[in-house]
Amino acid sequence: MPITQISDVIENDNCIGCGACAFAAPQSFDIGFNDAGHYVAIDNDNSKDASLSEICPMSGEGQNETEISESIYYDLRHDTRIGHYKSTLAGHVAVSDYRANGSSGGLISWLAAEFLKQDMVDIVVHVKPSEREMEGDALFEFGTSNIENDIKSGAKSRYYPVTMMNVLPMIATTNKRFAIIGLPCFIKSIRLLQFAGLIPSDRIAYTIGLVCGHLKSRYFADYLAWQKGRHPGTLEDFDFRYKIADRPASRYGFAFSSHNKTSQDLIVTPMANVKGGDWGEGQFKNPACEFCDDVLAECADVAVGDAWIPEYVNDYRGSNIVVTRNETIDEMIRKATQSGDLVMNEVTVAQVVESQSSGLRHRRQGLAHRLARRKSKGIWAPRKRVDPMIARNILRRWVYDLRSVIADRSSMAFADVIARGGTLADYDRQMAPYVRAHKILTRGASRFKALIRKLRPARTGAW
Ligand SMILES: Cc1cc2nc3c(=O)[nH]c(=O)nc-3n(C[C@H](O)[C@H](O)[C@H](O)COP(=O)(O)OP(=O)(O)OC[C@H]3O[C@@H](n4cnc5c(N)ncnc54)[C@H](O)[C@@H]3O)c2cc1C
Repeated sequence: MPITQISDVIENDNCIGCGACAFAAPQSFDIGFNDAGHYVAIDNDNSKDASLSEICPMSGEGQNETEISESIYYDLRHDTRIGHYKSTLAGHVAVSDYRANGSSGGLISWLAAEFLKQDMVDIVVHVKPSEREMEGDALFEFGTSNIENDIKSGAKSRYYPVTMMNVLPMIATTNKRFAIIGLPCFIKSIRLLQFAGLIPSDRIAYTIGLVCGHLKSRYFADYLAWQKGRHPGTLEDFDFRYKIADRPASRYGFAFSSHNKTSQDLIVTPMANVKGGDWGEGQFKNPACEFCDDVLAECADVAVGDAWIPEYVNDYRGSNIVVTRNETIDEMIRKATQSGDLVMNEVTVAQVVESQSSGLRHRRQGLAHRLARRKSKGIWAPRKRVDPMIARNILRRWVYDLRSVIADRSSMAFADVIARGGTLADYDRQMAPYVRAHKILTRGASRFKALIRKLRPARTGAW
């Protein structure tokens, strides 16, 4: 099989814009927004350096997530769905305002602040509101924090494109101890850069991975705000995870500051009241996410997500699901639970899987299906940990195909509408047939599943 080039990754919409190639070969690559509002690598000189594919997390050429994590966490138990694990936990932070200010239980920001307080790292690299110089600049970017308040100002999930291109050179050349917080593919990228010797192996003291469903284009925030009367490109801030009292944590809202110069009121809207908030449907999804099989940030020392399982989801204040892979972090969490700073309970691997069941299905069964589709059309696809296989259930087959179409079309359709000076209704009209079909099919697929469950004889009991 021919060796994958970075150009294969870019041309087939598999680039996530992490910045690894641009850091390793700055003369050959830049990172910038493409027309669809995703960060992607820009190939300046049609580079044919195959070694770059080894550090690209999306090329399928370097070590995969299982191989990377096996080399780091070899003494831990392994599950094919959640990766290596020491402990599996759920809970929240009970001190200060970490939980109130966080997306879910506030554990990520608490951990990062503790790293600093306990002198375990000098600098935390994470995503924060960007220092915007002009309208149109990205709302969020990777930055650094070395005090607790700065960590807190970076709290919350940003369903928005980011790149590490601006921080990688600093990490590589600054002789300090770093912690880095990132999505699974970004943490994988860090590991591959460490293995390639481009980032000194002792430079990154700890990695915190966010559990991930998928990343959005920059137009996702614009689309949500437009439905509340704010024109695209004029946002100054955006909170994708506004907690709404007395609703399940999964029924959160979004918020942004009013543009009215005389007031800075926050405009808050439940996600369920607008179009585009259904994560399964995946409007504005980065198409590269359709070819990722890492949900639980398998290369990170700890993975943290939303505990949207029956025991936790009803508390609107939010709770984390946690998979630890590092002895020191595990011990920190245990001690803080004993002292009352954290409220953490052991959960089973099955509960972790349950909390991410839709994401895992889309990234395993769905991915196998998408790989098979590309194979049958002779289109390049990265080597993944699942083999190509068309989904057996016809309804699911249609659902997966439709989701890829929605991911491919939504951001471009939105960009076209803006460029033409069109209206929100123009965009909605273009997407309506796909969105409607997705609703009908997913409803049908769930009914079909329920029926099969009813007809299938019980697996346990007196047979
Ligand atoms: C794109 C995306 C998809 C996600 N998908 C899922 C999912 O399917 N299932 C699930 O359980 N959880 C998912 N999460 C994680 C979840 O939304 C929460 O971030 C997580 O539960 C941590 O909550 P917290 O209160 O502990 O974090 P907080 O204390 O709020 O801290 C969040 C930290 O994440 C960093 N961060 C925010 N956005 C980004 C970003 N785009 N890239 C890198 N770092 C970032 C911030 O800088 C901050 O340090 C996703 C997050 C993102 C950004």
